[in-house]
Amino acid sequence: MTTGKIGVSTKDLFPIIKKFLYSDHDIFLREIVSNAVDATQKLKVLASSGEYSGELGEVKIRVKADKEAGTLTVSDRGIGMTRDEVEKYINQIAFSGAEEFLEKHKDDAATIIGHFGLGFYSAFMVSSRVDIVTRSYKEGAQAVKWSCNGDPEYTLEDVEKEERGTDIVMHINEEDKDFLEENKISELLNKYCKFLPVEIVFGKKKEWKEGKQVDTDEDNVINDVNPAWTRKPSDLKEEDYLNFYHQLYPMAEDPLFHIHLNVDYPFNLTGILYFPKINNKFEIQKNKIQLYSNQVYVTDSVEGIVPEYLTLLHGVIDSPDIPLNVSRSYLQSDRNVKKISNHITKKVADSLSDIFTNNRVDYEKKWDDLKVFIQYGMLTDEKFAERADSIFLFKDTDGKYFTFEEYDNLVNTNQTDKDKNLVSLYATDATEQFSYIERAKAKGYNVLLMDGQLDTHFINYLEQKHTDHKYLRVDADVLEKLIQKEDVRKTELSEAEQEELRPVFTSQLPKDNGMFFVNFEALGEDGDPVVVTRSEFMRRMKEMAAMNPGMGFYGAMGDQYTLVVNTDHKLVKGVLESERHEMTSKLEPINFEIREIEGKKTELEELNKGRKDEEIPQVDKDRLKEFNEKLDSMRKQKESLLEEYGKENKIVGQLIDLALLANGLLKGEALNNFVKRSVELIK
Ligand code: ADP
Repeated sequence: MTTGKIGVSTKDLFPIIKKFLYSDHDIFLREIVSNAVDATQKLKVLASSGEYSGELGEVKIRVKADKEAGTLTVSDRGIGMTRDEVEKYINQIAFSGAEEFLEKHKDDAATIIGHFGLGFYSAFMVSSRVDIVTRSYKEGAQAVKWSCNGDPEYTLEDVEKEERGTDIVMHINEEDKDFLEENKISELLNKYCKFLPVEIVFGKKKEWKEGKQVDTDEDNVINDVNPAWTRKPSDLKEEDYLNFYHQLYPMAEDPLFHIHLNVDYPFNLTGILYFPKINNKFEIQKNKIQLYSNQVYVTDSVEGIVPEYLTLLHGVIDSPDIPLNVSRSYLQSDRNVKKISNHITKKVADSLSDIFTNNRVDYEKKWDDLKVFIQYGMLTDEKFAERADSIFLFKDTDGKYFTFEEYDNLVNTNQTDKDKNLVSLYATDATEQFSYIERAKAKGYNVLLMDGQLDTHFINYLEQKHTDHKYLRVDADVLEKLIQKEDVRKTELSEAEQEELRPVFTSQLPKDNGMFFVNFEALGEDGDPVVVTRSEFMRRMKEMAAMNPGMGFYGAMGDQYTLVVNTDHKLVKGVLESERHEMTSKLEPINFEIREIEGKKTELEELNKGRKDEEIPQVDKDRLKEFNEKLDSMRKQKESLLEEYGKENKIVGQLIDLALLANGLLKGEALNNFVKRSVELIK
């Protein structure tokens, strides 16, 4: 037996592996199994080139846990190592400048392990001792056993080993006993080794017998050595792609379609990306894209490798050209990674274009699921936006689809306003905004359906891109003003009449459901008597605020509505008439007094006309103040008399409720009151 010291220039290696790498220690199994895979693959290469002429035999890798002995063993039948090779590959670790590097990266296990090719040594994260029992494939090779308990000191001795290959025996630490549990090992193998190219056996296949799970004689192979992405697209059927998807994500709904990536120059990239069914909303992303390097699982956080919007996709990317053990910021500036990212973007856009061009019907069928994804891409990636410009679809409230160009042509003539803006109308909820949609359609307008999660952002984006395009929700204003053709006719109501009618309507507005303003417009005899509208700007700001905490100001504001009263309508005229009839005599004394004070006020103002503030005598200033206060209180008095009257006016109540109802704003008690009043009115 020989003893020796592992060739590292620093004594710090083991403490660092044990202490600093602790957080990531799951990966040790991946490293050990990957080494076994490499050793097996190497032997296969030697066999096929004729350098090795012996029997290959069965080359499965076996993972075994022995709870009693406290060991976890990974055995392969690969090339094995001679004594010299153990000395060379295991004992001599190229470790120049190690101390500095370790200090810098002590929190990042993956970086250290990758940087120094310390894969094997990661076993010490969970082991108090590691034995290597190995016999080279070379003829007449003597088997050796290397053993090390975590010091730089090791032992190396000749042993008997019948089979070619290597056993890595890990004596698991007391505090890491978890790693001897079947469930835990299965979980790790499943995560890291599921698609490795050599069969990996963990225990026996099980079956149910008399209500219990019992082992069968058959090896339990945990991996698929030929996953779909490693095969030629021409060898795969639609079904294979579907099966592979479910192999990756057993619980997921069928995807919409897939893209098979297959490049070997100027970089190496294989993989299959799937468009998932996202049902028009972002779900928390459970099924992430998995990144592999030669079939070894690396990570499922691919940010920085694929553009952000593409992280919505599912599937697998496999590339040995992506530097794995480096920081994210380095990754983003890496040239290969940039090329790969561009390639993926192009492939995705091309696939979408293909379906759009070759099968528009199918494309439209998938559109509702694709939309949010394409919008996300267009909003965040200029290059993608350019490519997607011709394949983005609007959907209208009748379920018809249009490209930007088709839509422009459709609405151009009828929906251009007097300022030459092309106005597109949209609804965010076809049921709630039904009556507005119907009115717009009756006027020959088209109404788009914009009920997606990104639609508000997307509309802003479109308006910024095309400054002569405007998007307005159907209830943003009265129809005549949504798309203003010529100057709108003004109401015939005088200021004084408006002032009298306003409190009558205000009296019956909802008090606890947003803020309402009353406006008078001439909307024609056949127009609706009362309409509720909601300012496009304020509504959009609120919607943006809901998604963007930085805009709290708008988010905290109540909803704002306008109650538009149509002064051309018979019923409204009737309300004004009966108000006059009932109230003129009651208001007369107040009106008289108001006129009187106003007269005095004007007189006083005339007197001081042209004078600077400091030239006006104090008495006059005091009197003016007194007049104003008086006027204020008289007007309030008048207003409250009118409100009192308005409150009892059933027609006013009914008109307002009907308008609220058309906007989906009449609910609960208010709705109940409306129903009762309606019954009374028809009795
Ligand atoms: P890396 O795999 O990055 O080279 P490791 O520390 O994991 O670094 O392994 C060091 C070397 O030890 C390998 O390159 C290989 O030559 C040898 N080795 C490790 N495990 C095995 C094995 N199971 N069979 C044969 N050789 C092995």
